Amino acid sequence: MEKDVDYDRVEYATNRKVENDEGEETGHIKMFSYDYENFFFELTCPYCQHEFERHDVELGSRPWWIECPECTRSTNVYRIKDKAEREQGPDDDELPDDVDT
Ligand SMILES: [Zn+2]
Repeated sequence: MEKDVDYDRVEYATNRKVENDEGEETGHIKMFSYDYENFFFELTCPYCQHEFERHDVELGSRPWWIECPECTRSTNVYRIKDKAEREQGPDDDELPDDVDT
């Protein structure tokens, strides 16, 4: 994403793969928000591989669905967890609180 994320201010951030209907991780999402109202995201559509990004979009309340402008299918950005998800990638949930990163 061309826009730098200010992690001191960010309230939500995720960077992970997204699955298609077959459960294959064919897409990818990077998304963040400073206020849970306006979101910035960059999505590779898991259905058609189209890449696009949007800035300052209001997604409303969960669950969040993002429609691909190319194939018009919607990707569900389901909740993993908020805050601290950041750029660490998957499976860092087990980190103890006192680890410096
Ligand atoms: Zn698509």
